[in-house]
Amino acid sequence: SIEALKKSSYEDNRWMEEPLFHTYCWVEVPMQMQGYRMYYRASLTIVQKNIFFMNVAILVQMLFLGVPTILLFVNVLSSIAMQKRMVNLLYQDPVTGGNNWCHFLEQSRKILRRFGNTNHTYAVVNLHMLRFQDFCACNGSKEGDELLKKIDGYLKVNMDRGETFARFSKADFGLLLRCRSVEQCEKRLKKLLVELTGVKRDQMISFSAGIYLLHPAANRKERRRRQIDLDQVYHFASAARSSMRGREGEYIKLFDQQILQEQLWRRKVEERMEAALAAGEFRLYLQPKFHPVTEKIVGAEALVRWISPEDGMIPPNRFIPIFEENGFITRLDDYMISEVAKLQSEWKIHGQKQVPVSVNVSRVNFVKEDLAEHICRLVDGYGAAHAGIELELTESAFFGNKELLQKILKELKMCGFSISMDDFGAGYSSRNSLKDLPIDVLKLDMDFFRGDGSKERGEIVVKETIRLAKSLHMKIVAEGIEKKEQVEFLAEQGCDMIQGYYFAKPLPVSEFNERAERDG
Ligand code: C2E
Ligand code: CA
Ligand code: CA
Repeated sequence: SIEALKKSSYEDNRWMEEPLFHTYCWVEVPMQMQGYRMYYRASLTIVQKNIFFMNVAILVQMLFLGVPTILLFVNVLSSIAMQKRMVNLLYQDPVTGGNNWCHFLEQSRKILRRFGNTNHTYAVVNLHMLRFQDFCACNGSKEGDELLKKIDGYLKVNMDRGETFARFSKADFGLLLRCRSVEQCEKRLKKLLVELTGVKRDQMISFSAGIYLLHPAANRKERRRRQIDLDQVYHFASAARSSMRGREGEYIKLFDQQILQEQLWRRKVEERMEAALAAGEFRLYLQPKFHPVTEKIVGAEALVRWISPEDGMIPPNRFIPIFEENGFITRLDDYMISEVAKLQSEWKIHGQKQVPVSVNVSRVNFVKEDLAEHICRLVDGYGAAHAGIELELTESAFFGNKELLQKILKELKMCGFSISMDDFGAGYSSRNSLKDLPIDVLKLDMDFFRGDGSKERGEIVVKETIRLAKSLHMKIVAEGIEKKEQVEFLAEQGCDMIQGYYFAKPLPVSEFNERAERDG
């Protein structure tokens, strides 16, 4: 019976410890007899030991399932953090903390791909802070970095949707701007440049920008075919910006084909300059200087001409500015000084007429402490007299280290060379330079004899300048003289020498020698 079953099962479990939980349940017993079912009432008891084993089982399960899950979770989190760090490393500028160039290229490509089919024109801009090196020299590189951060911060708040920017190098930033028209783009950039000057309140800073415009593709086919090399485009924008170098008052320049031609020319010049110097393609030309009254040759200026087998005669203004930038000018100046020294000693040996020859010495040379010693060595190599050589320097040489310049000029004078100030009057601090530097000869700039101003006023300025030079015991050379009346006026004022097309253009040495011979 059920009661008996109950009793016996309870009694069976009596030897076990005190149950925590006790219940019964009915369990069907499988039978072969048809129409009958047999049930067994089972007793279910949970004791302390069961709980312990259950806990152990759960713990083991957690160990096997939970720990790997946690580990997996931690792994995912750390790899996300690592990825983020990697992205930062890859896309973050270490100086500004903003975007770096890699980011700019990637972002720009995305933007152009996304917006390429709209009517927008994009401007790739090279934004450049002028004289950043000087700023760092005066304030330290830490301040320089702070300034770059500020520029980055300013640009960040001034970019619109679908635009991007990043620092390229030093104080150069690349911008991708969306513009409605060229005029709107220039106007916006002008505003940007003006506002950027205010980033550093206590100091004057200025910027310039070059622009390369990316017009929308005309049709689907062109759009699909178009491959934009952003690095190259940025390079064009910076070429446009560099083309303004030295031009006062210009701050924004749009890239055009002429700039590309100049770039190609620059590359060609730089590729060939070394070989050209070695092959003697740079030739010495002499422009005679005449006495205004006797009209005889009393001196000459050495001017270089590049006679290239490929391009014919190349005038100096096509390569001297390039050499001044890349430093090759010092090599060329050395060569010209040597050529003049060689010529002076040849004149002496052959008993020809000897006149002082002036040589242009670029301002780039005036950073060398031992410049005087160096020039002496070059001249002495040919045994030429120092008195026959005059060194012409332009006012721009006076803007560097004044003490060093004074020291070099003093040494050069002690060596017996005379010093001439070229293009006097073309700059603005000429008078001060006259006061401080040991100058022997003043060359009046051509501009004194050009221009639309009143003739009388021009004559008064020349007259007063000659008077000033005379009272400082300097000799005066007037340059760029093309008219007889100019020669007559200068003769009246006591000008010492005249150089200009009125008398002669720069001549090859052989022609100069012939002319000097005829001159007697
Ligand atoms: P610069 O030293 O002022 O030379 C005078 C320039 O004026 C020369 O141009 C000369 O040909 C030109 N000139 C002379 N008389 C007249 C005239 O009556 N009318 C006009 N319109 N021009 C006249 P060039 O030879 O083309 O030289 C240009 C500049 O290139 C020179 O200006 C000088 O700054 C630089 N240069 C030339 N040769 C050398 C050199 O060997 N070394 C360096 N560092 N610079 C040089
Ligand atoms: Ca000169
Ligand atoms: Ca000159």
